[in-house]
Amino acid sequence: MMADGPATGDLFSKFDELIAMREGLLAGGQEDPFSLVMEKVLSPTQAICNGRDTILLGTYNYMGMTFDDDVIAAGKQAYDEFGAGTTGSRVLNGTFYHHRDVENALKEFYAMDHAMVFSTGYQANLGIISTIAGKGDYIILDIDSHASIWDGCKMGDAEVVPFKHNDLDALEKRLRRVPEGAGKLVVLEGVYSMLGDIAPLKEMVSIAKKYGAMVLVDEAHSMGFIGEHGRGVCEAAGVIDDCDFIIGTFSKSVGTVGGFCVSNHPKFEIMRLVCRPYVFTAALPPAVMASSATSIRKLMHNGNKRAHLWENSRTLHSGLRALGFQLGTDEPQSAIIAVVMPDLERGAAMWEALLKEGLYVNLARPPATPANMTLLRCSLCAEHSSEQVQTILGMFERAGKAVGII
Ligand code: PMP
Repeated sequence: MMADGPATGDLFSKFDELIAMREGLLAGGQEDPFSLVMEKVLSPTQAICNGRDTILLGTYNYMGMTFDDDVIAAGKQAYDEFGAGTTGSRVLNGTFYHHRDVENALKEFYAMDHAMVFSTGYQANLGIISTIAGKGDYIILDIDSHASIWDGCKMGDAEVVPFKHNDLDALEKRLRRVPEGAGKLVVLEGVYSMLGDIAPLKEMVSIAKKYGAMVLVDEAHSMGFIGEHGRGVCEAAGVIDDCDFIIGTFSKSVGTVGGFCVSNHPKFEIMRLVCRPYVFTAALPPAVMASSATSIRKLMHNGNKRAHLWENSRTLHSGLRALGFQLGTDEPQSAIIAVVMPDLERGAAMWEALLKEGLYVNLARPPATPANMTLLRCSLCAEHSSEQVQTILGMFERAGKAVGII
């Protein structure tokens, strides 16, 4: 037993409030929304959870590539020919044929000169942001930025200046105040993953350029889906050529794991020697790289799947709204539809009621969410059939009525 009272020196005491909140939530027999086990995964949209057939509406498998035959075959072949792992850094023994190949696939996908692959998207943000913006430089970022962006800022030595979410005036005001001659990096996201809203990139990039800032856009949630070629919100907004760095991940539309940065900057390759989260960690296994390269090349020719995913997004958004749920955006802007819950208790109850119906969604709470919101985040997949979307709406209706939310 831990002694009561102050000054115990227990470094875990800072988590007491969170521990109490979690215990309070689970005390009534509520299933833990943060430790669900997928006992079997049947397809990009179906799994067995707690012995039950479950529709998956809370993964980032936007394009359903996890079960693509070619993606799996490429991984199996790489296992056979290159072994299970790299056992080393990219700059030493960890660059295999497939690491180069996946970087070439990214250059083709984005039509850009340089591509650098990291072990995760988290590390890509951490590495690029902390390395390019150093002492005396300024990072101007949207306040709702992903944790990996904030952590990248923390790891570097630059001045960090947040601005109000998606607010053009606030961005310009911050830029105007940066001292003359200082290096400036504006950090934005294409799709903000909590509410599923997109950034007004056309205007924002133009403001950034007016003040001579470099621009980094995290397109984690739009790659493969948004834009004519699936390059993201930058492409849809017609500003891809003005983006100095695009950050992305393989853990969403690509369907594997890994992160990357693409750029046209002529000196970009030096990053491979100076970016610590790239240098001081092991390179991803060859099978993951082979699967990723195959997936990226297939995503270049997926117009029909993109159209179906948009249709799913519109149907779910309008259906939930018609049922009386409060949503994170007035219109569907991405593959993420966020349903706003009145509080954590009812959010958790709704999450559990949906799971018992056979539907998995993400429960999200502060600090991940903006404005202290509890959200049930639905992320659609191009492989969800139109019938599945109707089934999902029926589940939301029954659960919402049972919990008293609608
Ligand atoms: N950026 C954003 C906007 C994200 O949402 C995420 C992950 N959810 C990441 C980066 C990190 O990606 P990864 O899962 O590859 O670490």
